[in-house]
Formats: sequence, structure tokens, C-alpha cells
Amino acid sequence: MIVAIDGPAASGKSTTAKIVGSRLNYLYIDTGAMYRAMALKAFLSKVDYEDRGAVCALLPETSIVQVIDQKTGDTKTLLDGRNVSHDIRTPEISKGVTAVCEIDEVRTKLVELQREMAGKGDVILDGRDIGTVVFPDADFKFFMVADLDIRAERRLKELEEKGIEADITEVRKDIERRDIRDSSRSNSPLKPASDSILVDTSVMSIEEQAEFIISRIKGLK
Ligand code: C5P
Repeated sequence: MIVAIDGPAASGKSTTAKIVGSRLNYLYIDTGAMYRAMALKAFLSKVDYEDRGAVCALLPETSIVQVIDQKTGDTKTLLDGRNVSHDIRTPEISKGVTAVCEIDEVRTKLVELQREMAGKGDVILDGRDIGTVVFPDADFKFFMVADLDIRAERRLKELEEKGIEADITEVRKDIERRDIRDSSRSNSPLKPASDSILVDTSVMSIEEQAEFIISRIKGLK
């Protein structure tokens, strides 16, 4: 079973996918975290995010893996064997990731990894191009949206909970900037698949979002 959840930044995709994955016992793959890990690799290697050639040169020596933390059940992201789940959430990496993920070679490598991981059993993936490019034949496709101000507030709260300092105006600007760039790129732009189910999470609680998706999957709605 493959469940795809796409949508703009901070629309509730990952929180929902994590809950649905754990309740249905599906592997949760956070594809945004994989692109963020590649941006972190560029940052640590002192490579400019926009320098295509230099970012591509890093690819053969880069390992990005998602594993389940046996203690918490959460999906962890490993970059070259190191747990970077926290480091990839900083405003610096949010800034760099939109350029890094536009590089064709980066997308080819990460999409290949995503398909490989999904071949091992039931999966739920969240991202921007899952239902359109990575798994156009997914069993279920959801496209989550929410009002920009609500998304900014939610993201700020998430960052604060992780102990990452941020400012609401900056968070809002970052989300808006990423959405525009993600939607207008030529390779795998952010857009709903024609057969996706639209979920507006503006006035839904996390529990309602998860229940909505689970009931759709179970054929109840
Ligand atoms: O999901 P998250 O906001 O963490 O993703 C970070 C960035 O990675 C997005 O803004 C987008 O530029 C990129 N991304 C992508 N394709 C995906 C997932 C994320 O291009 N499938």
C-alpha cells in the first residue's frame, strides 16, 4: 500500500503522516527531510546551495537514510551515518533546501532512494511530488492545504518545541518563499495530482486530519 501526502510547507503533512503511519503500521518516509539532509551536506561542505556543479560533486559521497527509532517509533534521518533529524530543521537549512532540491541529479538520486524504501512494505510518504512523480500510481493521494497565517503559527510552535529560535514574520516569509519557488520550478513542481483528495487543514485538529485520512484509506468515507 502506498499513501502519498503532498502540499505546501507547514500544511500539516508530516505530523499527520507520522500519526497515520504509526496507527496503521506503515513506514513513514519524510521526503522533505531527505532534501534537507542534502542541503545540510552542502552547508557542512561549505558549498553554495546554488552551485549546481559543486552540489552534484557531493552526491557520490553522500548517504541519506531514513530509519525508525526503535524507542520512540519516529522516523530519523541519517546523513553519512549521523542522526541529523534536529540539524535539518534550522532556518539556515530551510533557506538552502529550495535551491538544492531543484538540481535534477539530486532529485534523481533521492527519488530512487524513496522508491527503494517504499518497495519494502506499506508506506506513507509526504512531500511535494509524491503523487505526481514519485508514485503516480499510489493507492491514495492526499493534497493538504491551509491558510498561510495558520501555517506560519504552527511552524513557529513546532520550531519552539524543538528549541530552535525563530520569528513569526521570518517563518511566514520563508514558507511563502518556498511555496512560490516549489510551485514554479520546472522539475517536479508542487501541484496536486489530478486524482488527489484535497484536505484543507485550516480548521482541522491534528486528530481530525489523521482520522480523515485513515477513514479514507479504510474506505469509510
Ligand atoms: O517538507 P519540508 O518542508 O521539510 O521540505 C523542505 C523542502 O524540500 C521543500 O520546501 C521543497 O523545496 C523540498 N522538497 C521537494 N520535494 C519533496 C519534498 C520536499 O522538493 N518531495
